[in-house]
Amino acid sequence: MEQTVKPRLFRINTGSCNGCDVEFVATAFVPKFHLDQLGVELVDRIEDANILVITGPMTARSQAFFEEAVSKVKPPYVVVGVGTCSVTTGIFRDSYAIYGPLDKYIDVDVNVAGCPPRPQAIAEAIAQGVKILQSKLLDQPMPTKLETIFTDFEAPESYRGRISLDAQKCTACRTCETVCPSGAIKITKTLEGYEHTIWHNTCCFCGNCSYYCPTGAIFTTNDFHTIQRQEEKYTDTHVALIPFHECEDCGKNFIPATEALIHRSYPKEEVPEMLTKSCPECRKRTTFERCYR
Ligand code: SF4
Ligand code: SF4
Ligand code: SF4
Repeated sequence: MEQTVKPRLFRINTGSCNGCDVEFVATAFVPKFHLDQLGVELVDRIEDANILVITGPMTARSQAFFEEAVSKVKPPYVVVGVGTCSVTTGIFRDSYAIYGPLDKYIDVDVNVAGCPPRPQAIAEAIAQGVKILQSKLLDQPMPTKLETIFTDFEAPESYRGRISLDAQKCTACRTCETVCPSGAIKITKTLEGYEHTIWHNTCCFCGNCSYYCPTGAIFTTNDFHTIQRQEEKYTDTHVALIPFHECEDCGKNFIPATEALIHRSYPKEEVPEMLTKSCPECRKRTTFERCYR
């Protein structure tokens, strides 16, 4: 990477569990994460920094210390929020002891979500931070898009990264929404069906949704590319419509059982047609009539 300014990095922990900090240490000191290629120097006085890497959800106890510390940094500088806690407060979002997220107290430039993010993702975020710093210091136009800088980073297949949804398999049962500890999933009824939204920036990659989904519709992927500019904080979502079908008996809207769900109850037998063509009320009525006629 072309080097024109010396990036001097200082890390601040605003009450993290230390998971993100451990990953940051790996990022900073293991050569394969390439921080040395960026010419980044770790400084031990915040006054000397022009890049702040900040972890944690901003606990009540850390907030005043944080504000005092950052008041000593001379602009221009770049802020990189590391970890879902710093971006949205993640699983701690409803705690009385949490004053975050970070962007309530400082202008953030780059976020990297994850609980914790992979060192490769942190390295990418710092690399983007260096580019933004150059733009600020040299009065150049800001990069509008974050281009991947390190192309040799991969994750194993089993890595639990960004969540994805196969809308064809989803029955809008709301199990994932209920078990999600981060409030990352929202299912809302619309005129056409149910809208299933995953907000990636608050997901902590716990895998609960995938574990409890009865149809296998929602699953973790090994995608660890979780960095984005602050402007994209609320738009890094996955939205899918689970459309209504019309009941062939009464004409009401309903969501039919999907094949994956049906085969949990009818593994070998032929699937009764009414399971996909009739609404639950009509199915109940038909079954009742069949039994008691
Ligand atoms: S994002 Fe996860 S790993 Fe990082 S500080 Fe928060 S809880 Fe810990
Ligand atoms: S993704 Fe799975 S758990 Fe979530 S609403 Fe769809 S079927 Fe239910
Ligand atoms: S992995 Fe699923 S359940 Fe866990 S925080 Fe992310 S969306 Fe929620």
